Amino acid sequence: MDFETVKQQSGRYVMDTYARFDLCLVKGKNATAWDESGKQYVDFGSGIGVNSLGYCDEGWTAAVTKQACTLQHTSNLYYTLPYIEAAKALCESTGMDKVFFCNSGAEANEGAVKIARRYGALHHGKDCRNIVTLVNSFHGRTLTTLAATGQQVFHEHFLPLTEGFVSVPAGDLGAMDAALDGSACAVLLELVQGEGGVVPLDKEYVQAVADLCRQRDVLLMLDEVQTGVGRTGTLFAYEQYGVKPNVVTAAKGLGGGLPIGAVLADEKTGGVLSRGLHGSTFGGNPVACAGACEVLKRLAGPGFLSDVARKGRLMKQRISAMPGVKEVRGLGMMLGIVLEDGLSAVDVAAKGIQNGAIFLTAKTLVRLLPPLTITDEEMERGLQVLETVLTQLQKEKDA
Ligand SMILES: *Cc1c(COP(=O)(O)O)cnc(C)c1O
Repeated sequence: MDFETVKQQSGRYVMDTYARFDLCLVKGKNATAWDESGKQYVDFGSGIGVNSLGYCDEGWTAAVTKQACTLQHTSNLYYTLPYIEAAKALCESTGMDKVFFCNSGAEANEGAVKIARRYGALHHGKDCRNIVTLVNSFHGRTLTTLAATGQQVFHEHFLPLTEGFVSVPAGDLGAMDAALDGSACAVLLELVQGEGGVVPLDKEYVQAVADLCRQRDVLLMLDEVQTGVGRTGTLFAYEQYGVKPNVVTAAKGLGGGLPIGAVLADEKTGGVLSRGLHGSTFGGNPVACAGACEVLKRLAGPGFLSDVARKGRLMKQRISAMPGVKEVRGLGMMLGIVLEDGLSAVDVAAKGIQNGAIFLTAKTLVRLLPPLTITDEEMERGLQVLETVLTQLQKEKDA
């Protein structure tokens, strides 16, 4: 199919909910992808942080195809082995107590919200049901996770949303203190706000919020859907913040490219959702869990995470010196590039594609979420495209 036909057919049969770039990928290997015409790209997006081991990693493909050829699904009416292995790997590598599997980030956050509501009711009465989130956060697209999302633009057109969510500005401890007034059963935070523009929270602030939560028996719930599974250079970003959450959600990079979400709960919260209170037809799917097991096994390998941190530092350093760049922020291989005034992130992404590299955006920033396995050579090629694009755009702006 030629590219014009692809666009025409997509528009004819698929709801127009996405502003897509002019690109149709057909295959990939690690951080390199090819379009339908055979043109090659370095991928600094990994499908929005999903292909944690890159495209078609050999170990991952073998694990997933083996499971697909053995038992692809049975439902949660029965036991299967892959979900047990994946949950065990998550618990043993984090010290969390129990896992619930679902299929996406939004669904994982829905599960966390249900734990919080039930915990509040059980321990502090039925009026303890509010969940405090942050302004500028992003937690998903379902009506409840939209309510949790502290960005009004996402709320428009879909009112009424689920009630019982309060959002306070990040970094404002007084506002958090006031919101935790006995009506709140949980706080839900991203440690680095992803969709909100790659905004890392301040460590002292997060630790102070964790203290408040502990003092008032409010659950600390971390949305690590984007920051989790090695993205920031540690298995979960909270390790770098020195806090111990009650609930952690994961999704994006967990399955290495298959849909899976997970709610991790500590000893205090692992038993809150008892039999019959939650479920998912696809949750714990054997093929998705086989993918997750392979991802977790590889991340636990010697030097894997420290190499993610090293590559992240290298990229930050290189990009900081490029034309048109005001600031590079983020953690590990979750980076946001603040451009100088007059330069547009969408232009950088569009020109990137023309020049053979894939970059993401977040608000007005260029966002990079390369596969964790990107090689130094791939990284170098991608950085060179970025430099070329920024130089060109800078010139056009000055002209
Ligand atoms: C992407 C994302 C979500 C939503 O995940 P979906 O799989 O798209 O439902 C939730 N929270 C954060 C922090 C995210 O980055």
